[in-house]
Amino acid sequence: MLGITHLLFAVVFAFLFVNIFSFSHPIIFFLLFCFAALLPDVDHPGSTLGRKIWPLSSVISFFFGHRGFLHSIFVPLGFLALGYYLDVFWIGAAIAGGYCAHLVSDALTLSGIRPFWLGPKVRGIVKTGGLLEMVFFFLMLVFFVWLFVETV
Ligand SMILES: [Zn+2]
Repeated sequence: MLGITHLLFAVVFAFLFVNIFSFSHPIIFFLLFCFAALLPDVDHPGSTLGRKIWPLSSVISFFFGHRGFLHSIFVPLGFLALGYYLDVFWIGAAIAGGYCAHLVSDALTLSGIRPFWLGPKVRGIVKTGGLLEMVFFFLMLVFFVWLFVETV
């Protein structure tokens, strides 16, 4: 999926979480969640975040490959564990949540992801940057506007 679609997907879920649960720092939670939704694609030099941190993204891509280990469930679990260990669980949860939002939306694409890294691939029918992604983006946008109007 494109960076903008990942971001919108994360915005919708972050908005839902902030409204369902009571966090002590909802705005920071929201921002961390949305930023974390771009993190997995640091393994792709052409991605939104990968372009910003090039050549580091090329090095990461060389060692991990695109949609390799960094697109597995182990990374967000690590953020959860780190947040718990450092006694800032809500920060770990925000980063893990945004990260998972990225993984779920990538799992909807034709290329898919391997959630358990070396295990079977989970894939969908959406072509990255294709018509279906545009439809998906538009529906998410309409849903978010409705959600925002109903909530605020
Ligand atoms: Zn990705």
